[in-house]
Amino acid sequence: MEIKTDIVIIGSGLAAYAAALELRGSGREVTVVAKAPGASALNSGAWDIADSPIRGRKDEWKDWPSWKEALRQILRREERHPYTLLSRGQSETDFVDFVEKTVARAAAVLPLPMASGDPLALVGDLGTVKPSAWVQASMRDADLRRWDQAKVLVVGIPGFPNFNARFIQQSLLEQQEAQRKTHVKFAGSFDLEIPEWAGRVSMSAIELAQRLDREEVFVSFGQEIVRYLEGKVYTHLLLPPIMGLENTPAILQALNRITGLTAAETLATPMSVPGWRLQQALENFFHENHCERLEGEAVGFDADGRRVKALYVHRGDQRLKLKAGAFLLATGKYLGGGIQRRGRWKEPLFNLPIFLDGRVLDSQSLPQTSRPHVAERQPFLSCGVTVNSLGQALDVEGQIVFDNLFAAGAILGEFSPAQDRCAAGVSLVSGTIAGRHASAVG
Ligand SMILES: Cc1cc2nc3c(=O)[nH]c(=O)nc-3n(C[C@H](O)[C@H](O)[C@H](O)COP(=O)(O)OP(=O)(O)OC[C@H]3O[C@@H](n4cnc5c(N)ncnc54)[C@H](O)[C@@H]3O)c2cc1C
Repeated sequence: MEIKTDIVIIGSGLAAYAAALELRGSGREVTVVAKAPGASALNSGAWDIADSPIRGRKDEWKDWPSWKEALRQILRREERHPYTLLSRGQSETDFVDFVEKTVARAAAVLPLPMASGDPLALVGDLGTVKPSAWVQASMRDADLRRWDQAKVLVVGIPGFPNFNARFIQQSLLEQQEAQRKTHVKFAGSFDLEIPEWAGRVSMSAIELAQRLDREEVFVSFGQEIVRYLEGKVYTHLLLPPIMGLENTPAILQALNRITGLTAAETLATPMSVPGWRLQQALENFFHENHCERLEGEAVGFDADGRRVKALYVHRGDQRLKLKAGAFLLATGKYLGGGIQRRGRWKEPLFNLPIFLDGRVLDSQSLPQTSRPHVAERQPFLSCGVTVNSLGQALDVEGQIVFDNLFAAGAILGEFSPAQDRCAAGVSLVSGTIAGRHASAVG
């Protein structure tokens, strides 16, 4: 079967969303091809834009630089970073301004409430604290930088091992000890059964979230917290990031009202309910904005000189030929499937070269591209394709591979989505730029 469209976006994560948002209203017919959810569906709930490459581990939360200052540091210090490549031809001020507007628009249009701070100091479900810029609104009040003498109750759920309330409580208090300002005056913890699910073990985050989506369950959950609070003085509630898939704003509102405390979810590690909320919101956006959605795997292409003409997509036992004027590769890194290492490193669809530290990777082994200690910055997490300031994919000589082939998101190299705390920002900014220029050639 043959299908004609104007622009094909391969992938359905954050980068694809940013591109589709940029193309909205352009009059272009957009087709999104995606085989499955990727890294976006595992996102913690935060959108990191930039973190300072020189921020010390011991810097106090209140002294953390703004993400804008961190972005300026990246632009000055990291010449191969995607932000630096994409900012070429613009002044630093114009680019920072562009990033701010781009991310704010992406947050405003997304059918999922988001909130910002510059920066936020957010608590994760392992008790760690990290900087970010945007976060799902249900986590906004877990910003430690805004807490002043807070008395925090961390609420866990028996049978849900992913969230250890007591461990988080202790970790918060230990980290507070290193701060001059008293953000956390006191922390307690408490495990609370989910109504009618007492005694259950090994519950998954998703099943708990679905259960809490029901009004009678979240109201009774709030009332149980009130019973526990009798005679105690707390100001904040820190909750596991499982407060519903559909009704999160209503759940948080109800818990604030019923308990009289400021309630917020922590960030999540996989399996991440906030990540799943994000992926659902992206899918809803594609649907509501008339992007044709093709579930299937892109497996090959036809080109004529310097133009890609068509993409081949496997859907079940069907093989579709998708003809278009421009193609946007937003296939992610390892989790999405955009980069693979099978014998040699490769971008499997267009066979684009994979770069790391300015060199092209070929058959290097994993030990050659990693460091022995897990907690160290791992080079292999930063490999990926490279682009020019329009988002066009480049070859080993730094030349455009195809005039109408763009790449965006986690597939880009020379930054680590897992470790550099700028992942969502890079996906949103590179997706927007690629979408804009794909529209011009498509
Ligand atoms: C556990 C975890 C926690 C994270 N936490 C944070 C955080 O706190 N802050 C932050 O900023 N970022 C975080 N990130 C990173 C961030 O969420 C990702 O970098 C970003 O969402 C990647 O978006 P993307 O669109 O580039 O790629 P992805 O979301 O991976 O999307 C790639 C898409 O391409 C599709 N695809 C791949 N190959 C093909 C093919 N051949 N045919 C069709 N479709 C294909 C995949 O199915 C998928 O839909 C986290 C990531 C993980 C994994």
